[in-house]
Amino acid sequence: MNQKMTTLKNLKFFVHTFGCQMNDNDSEHIAGILKSYGANPSDILEESDLIVINTCAVREKSEEKLYSLLGRLNSLKKKKGKKFTIGVVGCVAQLHRSKLLEKMPYIDFILGPDNYRIIPEIMTNLFKEKIISTDWSKDWHEIPAAQTLRTSRVSAFVTIMEGCNNFCTYCIVPYTRGREKCRPSPQILSEIQELAHSGYKEIQLLGQNVNSYIDPNSKKGFIDLLKEVNTIEEIAWIRFITSHPKNFSPDIAAAMKDSERVCHQLHLPVQSGSTSVLHRMKRGYSREDYLQIIMNLRKLMPDISLSTDIIVGFPGESDKEFQETMSLLEKVRFTNIFSFRYSPRPLTEAEKNKDEVPFAIKKARLIAVQNLQKIIQIETNQLLVGRTIKVLCTGKSKKDPNILSGRNAGYQVINFSSKKEVLYQFVDVLITSSGPYSLLGHTL
Ligand code: SAM
Ligand code: SF4
Repeated sequence: MNQKMTTLKNLKFFVHTFGCQMNDNDSEHIAGILKSYGANPSDILEESDLIVINTCAVREKSEEKLYSLLGRLNSLKKKKGKKFTIGVVGCVAQLHRSKLLEKMPYIDFILGPDNYRIIPEIMTNLFKEKIISTDWSKDWHEIPAAQTLRTSRVSAFVTIMEGCNNFCTYCIVPYTRGREKCRPSPQILSEIQELAHSGYKEIQLLGQNVNSYIDPNSKKGFIDLLKEVNTIEEIAWIRFITSHPKNFSPDIAAAMKDSERVCHQLHLPVQSGSTSVLHRMKRGYSREDYLQIIMNLRKLMPDISLSTDIIVGFPGESDKEFQETMSLLEKVRFTNIFSFRYSPRPLTEAEKNKDEVPFAIKKARLIAVQNLQKIIQIETNQLLVGRTIKVLCTGKSKKDPNILSGRNAGYQVINFSSKKEVLYQFVDVLITSSGPYSLLGHTL
């Protein structure tokens, strides 16, 4: 047995994840790497020997949550002693590096988003020195499928690219995750084949800007990749996230329509309904461009389910500009939205802009957006009552183990009861009632 195996064997670890699906997938890799060296995942933080916190720097709020968690872990470390190891990884680690250690010397290691692979080495050398590693490599580093500990039995994330070249003026991602690098398509396809053989029914292709994917060797683009994934028969549902409106060409919409396994569902972050704000955000499209994409998608796929991201209170956002976001929401009628108050982030261009919208106005605008969207969702979800919908059952409801939970092709949450054994299967559900954020029903 090598030294890494000896150090990690039977060690209990706990991975805490902040942030997006990208981070969820990274945490599955971290857990898989540790497990492949004999360590075991634990559900109880207090009983673990190693805590890895996978961080998110996109908004200040998630950074604040990290610091409060670290405070709690410090108290625990004082009780448990030196053998309780704390690692901070991901975007906040990349952003603050050694400054984190200066403020919180009880942290044992700090790793950027491109450095998870070295956790086993770190654990073997840990007691000799504290480790900070935040280098970026230009090349794709493949993590073997065996080193991914998936949280779902039926739906899997598959990373196709990392980083971002866009530098939207509010966004820290290009500074924490580096420039775009794409995974070679044979590796993507082989991972999906393996998932299909293990019984996975849905896959979500992941990247900050998947539409700009280019295979580093064949130079084939996103549409070719989508078409190839579509040939893997056992995978019934294919989704991809995130798309960028400036790269979302009509050809991609046509490829979605023509690929029978690709769900008629799309997350297309608009950020603002105002062309002048979009210009200041350097998004590369106007309100009209965005609405044109939506019109084309609905023409090709009338049943398409659309979701988006909205930022309110971007520097200098006037009331008139904000109202354009409200009117865009009314016009498009998204199935779901993720809405945020603008949060100034270090290194970004917008952070230097002193024309900040006062906090109270940002707060009021966020409430207005969420109230409007809630009404839209109540109305649109109501239209599904009485219909029978195909649902992929992903597990039991967290609140009530007698209720099952799943999603439809439109990625809406459906809670339902069933007299038959349907866990992790596709099932037809009759929708009997609806709320703004989920639908309720039973199997037939
Ligand atoms: N790459 C994706 C895109 O272009 O939409 C998502 C990136 S980001 C991790 C997810 C969302 O966080 C963004 O779509 C944006 O709405 C939000 N976001 C990013 N920076 C923000 C900031 N400084 N303040 C508030 N929200 C922010
Ligand atoms: Fe951030 Fe813009 Fe890149 Fe998305 S496209 S990750 S919002 S810089």
